[in-house]
Amino acid sequence: MGRVTDSGPPGLVPVDLLIRDAWIVTMDDERRIFRSGALAVTGDRIVAVGPSDDVARAVSAKETIDGSRFVLTPGFVNCHVHITGEPITRGYVPDDTDWRTNVFDWLIPTYMAQTPEDERLSAQLAAVEMLRTGTTCFIEAGTIMDLSGVVDVLGAIGIRGRLGQWVQDRAFAPDDDQAALTAAAIARLEDQIAQFPAAGDPLLAAWPCLVGHNTATDDLWRAATALAQANGLGVTAHMSPDPADPDFYLATTGRRPIAHLADIGALGGHLSLTHAIHLDGEEVALMAETGTHVTHCPMTAMKGAYGASTAGRFPELQAAGVGIQLGTDGNNNGNSADMMRAMYVMAGLFKDARRDSALFPAHQVLEAATLNGAAGARLGHAIGALKPGMKADFVAHDRDRPEWVPLLNVINQLVWSADGRGVHSVWVDGRRVVEGYRVTTIDEDRLFAQVEAAAPLIVARAGKSVPCAWPVL
Ligand SMILES: [Zn+2]
Repeated sequence: MGRVTDSGPPGLVPVDLLIRDAWIVTMDDERRIFRSGALAVTGDRIVAVGPSDDVARAVSAKETIDGSRFVLTPGFVNCHVHITGEPITRGYVPDDTDWRTNVFDWLIPTYMAQTPEDERLSAQLAAVEMLRTGTTCFIEAGTIMDLSGVVDVLGAIGIRGRLGQWVQDRAFAPDDDQAALTAAAIARLEDQIAQFPAAGDPLLAAWPCLVGHNTATDDLWRAATALAQANGLGVTAHMSPDPADPDFYLATTGRRPIAHLADIGALGGHLSLTHAIHLDGEEVALMAETGTHVTHCPMTAMKGAYGASTAGRFPELQAAGVGIQLGTDGNNNGNSADMMRAMYVMAGLFKDARRDSALFPAHQVLEAATLNGAAGARLGHAIGALKPGMKADFVAHDRDRPEWVPLLNVINQLVWSADGRGVHSVWVDGRRVVEGYRVTTIDEDRLFAQVEAAAPLIVARAGKSVPCAWPVL
């Protein structure tokens, strides 16, 4: 309608937002870093990134923010996080449980004790924790009960994600009907994908989220793969955090898990395997050849005694060209959804284990948390870097904090000094969803009170108590 404010002065590009005079870590093709940079946004897209004066001269902004207090990075992509089940009972499982005890004696009874209302609270809490620590996009491990309810509340918060109710189909009980279980699991995947399609890069879309391990038949793997390939989606599944998975596949197929998945055509760029710690050399080579992604959850591995630092082949996966992406897993595994803490652990784990300081330098870890994660989420064309045309998903880290002073080596600082608690503001899809350390799209105080009230009831329904080595009076 020719409003002057929409078109701006002649010759200038009208934009909605200009942030100027910030440090900007672009993660673009040349990995440019600007000491005094500017970022311009219109709608959901970045329209310009560059030296502050150059960008400011070229645009007419509705809103201008002085970025001199900030380091801007792309939003982090958390490629494995349990948004239901665990955030709402964060950290109650004792930290001296091995993998089997953690999963079967604690997590599964806890999951079974929850209601759809608990799940929505849990998902909201997960989104708040992720956004406030700089994660703008996630891949869910798998909603347990009610995907629609979870999508509703996350849509209101405004985080980007790829999620789905998790599925498994293997008949474990003697009177289970294998064919019926498989048909039901495939039908569930098809329904979810039809209900929450990914075409057009919406904030939230459904994916095949397989529980993984030994719980899926070959027919389910093949169906999930075909659905993903036909719809431009990914598939996510847990695999080989523990030798139990290789033992199962060797006993039932004669092949290790990754080799068996290769045999049935399930590997490829659509697939993100979480953990993937207990691999052999052939499995590493197969993942590299097929472009299969691995989601490294270093905090979970360390706390859960999975053996990543002793048995893990992450340096070999990196050397072979496998896209290593990062995940934080569950709040009773790694316990924190802060990707910056996961970056710290990833950067240090193998330096120490192999006594080789050249392993996983900070810049490589930052690629894992941004570019590799975006590729794993099948969104490498839209997120993971700050470039014109990309979605405006970015984070403003607050330099007005001791861990950011002095600012000399911004990449070292991001990985080794700072953590998610220094995230001041976050934009997703051009919308400022965190401002001044608070999520703008939900009443945080109310949410925290609701979670505090619900958690003890879940623990009681699960028949558990909260152990502590010391008296809690
Ligand atoms: Zn998991």
